[in-house]
Amino acid sequence: MKKYLNNLPEEVKDLMRLAGKVASQNNMPAYLVGGFVRDLLLGLPNLDLDIVVEGDGVKFAQDFAHRLKAKITCHRQFGTATINLGRNLKIDIASARCEYYPEAAHLPVVRPGNLKDDLKRRDFTINTIAISINQKDRGRLIDFFHGKEDLHHKKIRILHDLSFIDDPTRIFRAIRFEQRFNFKIEPNTLKCLSQALAQEMLTKVQPQRIRDEIILILKEDRPIRLIKRMEQLISFKFVHPRLYISENIHRFLESIQRQIKWFKKNYPERRPLDVWLVYFMGLLEHLKLSQVKVICARFAFRRGETKRILNYKKLKARFILNLKKKKIKPSQIFQKLEPLSYEVIIIIKAKFKDKLIHKRIADFFEIYNGMRIVISGADLQRLGVSPGPYYQKIFSQVLNAKLNGRLRSREEELALIKKLIRNK
Ligand code: ATP
Repeated sequence: MKKYLNNLPEEVKDLMRLAGKVASQNNMPAYLVGGFVRDLLLGLPNLDLDIVVEGDGVKFAQDFAHRLKAKITCHRQFGTATINLGRNLKIDIASARCEYYPEAAHLPVVRPGNLKDDLKRRDFTINTIAISINQKDRGRLIDFFHGKEDLHHKKIRILHDLSFIDDPTRIFRAIRFEQRFNFKIEPNTLKCLSQALAQEMLTKVQPQRIRDEIILILKEDRPIRLIKRMEQLISFKFVHPRLYISENIHRFLESIQRQIKWFKKNYPERRPLDVWLVYFMGLLEHLKLSQVKVICARFAFRRGETKRILNYKKLKARFILNLKKKKIKPSQIFQKLEPLSYEVIIIIKAKFKDKLIHKRIADFFEIYNGMRIVISGADLQRLGVSPGPYYQKIFSQVLNAKLNGRLRSREEELALIKKLIRNK
């Protein structure tokens, strides 16, 4: 009976024993649920634990966190709390609740419930399996909706026919889980999904919720598979009526994938790429700047995201022509690429197969990016230059000289400054 819990790392097993103790002392039965249990049964690592408590989940969480001497964040109004244990280990705790949807595609009305109520409101059967962590039956598998069977047969199945009408974001989730686990959306679920699309349910969802789902899709390990399946099942018209995945876009996405791999392999110590954003920019390739602006505003992408998306869209043909000129100094490569984000540089590399462009981008990451000069404002002051905009001018001239290989030491930097001051 306890075999499912036996497969867990020792640290997690200890945590669950303690959680069981807290549950029984508070007289609030507690269960592991959701993606954690699904992944445990699939033999996949997952350190995002989800616990549902029949009773006051926040009180349970506070008691549990106190005994663990761990940090806790509570959301009283939702009856939820998160305990962060570091090393990627996180426990989400929620009070069991019952939900109903008074209006399709809107947020549900919630009231306290028991474990079965809580599992009944979930998206797919594979996410409804629970494991007791209570002392009296620790490790018992609870499977009201035949989730284990669907896991075994690799099926994505909704719990009732109106599931996608209640919450159309489940359409994205279905595709995400199907492709992630190599499962199949079973026929009735597929039928209900098509019916929800035919009723244009996606237009009734808050755009920000859709944006979050798009991001999750593009963050999956093999986003191109998901994009293909999305195009096949729902198309991308919900993003923009002109958006579709042509053969060209498809090839472009594959090129993006290669360049992301290249970056990750060669520069693991750099800021990690927002991979999803590069794919998203790729999806929008055929659209005009004005259409992309509409998308960014409608889905309320964050400022930094919109900026990167538009920066790429606004790149001029001249910029690329300059980048592949035979004679171009390192300082000019630096000036062109340094203001761009890594995401934009990677998509440029994916788009233009020109060898010189590739070499310049590689050189940029290898040598120029992050190159700094040694001299500082204090040095300038010592040389009698009073602080002001002139400082910046000197710094950039020195940096250019350094990029072009003309300065190799602090002394050489200082000598150049002195010359610049003299000739001012
Ligand atoms: P992932 O592995 O992608 O994190 P997950 O299954 O852990 O997947 P979460 O988004 O963290 O998914 O949600 C946790 C649980 O909450 C899910 O397993 C599912 O049971 C439930 N859930 C999440 N979103 C919905 C939804 N839109 N409708 C119904 N149930 C949902």
